[in-house]
Amino acid sequence: MDEKQVELYCQFLRVIMSRIDAHFEDQKDYIHCKEGCSLCCQNGEYPCSEIEFEFLKLGFMTLDPQVQQLIVNKILQLKAQKANFKGEKFIYECPFLIDNRCSVYKYRMIICRTFGLTYYENEKGKNTIKSPFCMEKGLNYSDVYDKESKTFSPSLYEKKGFKKEPTAFNLGRYSLIEKFGKDIMNIDFGDDKALLDWL
Ligand code: SF4
Repeated sequence: MDEKQVELYCQFLRVIMSRIDAHFEDQKDYIHCKEGCSLCCQNGEYPCSEIEFEFLKLGFMTLDPQVQQLIVNKILQLKAQKANFKGEKFIYECPFLIDNRCSVYKYRMIICRTFGLTYYENEKGKNTIKSPFCMEKGLNYSDVYDKESKTFSPSLYEKKGFKKEPTAFNLGRYSLIEKFGKDIMNIDFGDDKALLDWL
């Protein structure tokens, strides 16, 4: 990967992480992420651009050879499973998840960094609100989620006395990559596909 692009991508990550950290702090009443919970790394396709994948590879290179071998074995197993998969969306556990922890945490993808928050995706002039799937499993935002209406419940929010309202932030991959990364920072993200398709 071009050194200049890596430097730009690192700057991009620093900027988005300062926003993401602030949003997690703002929403901390609703966030139930904790050490050892890796639900978000066990169920996904993990959209990943070329530059994100190149950065992940840098993380992989820092790992102990035994851990690298574990990851390679998981990748081969997943590839074999995918080859026999007949459905539409192949959902899998990320091969970089080792002992319920991300082995490449500092190098993880953008989607891994925003997961857990509610955000809106503004694509082609249309806003879509997306909440983490763990909300329906009794985790993030579940305290204020009304399963019947499938929305946040103002009465639950008021009853529980939370200080901040549950809020959706502008953190969709499209906005972060297209609007900020490409248009403003001039970063070449390359192709975009599911993580397993890069491996
Ligand atoms: S790269 Fe790390 S944080 Fe992202 S899905 Fe894989 S294990 Fe989870």
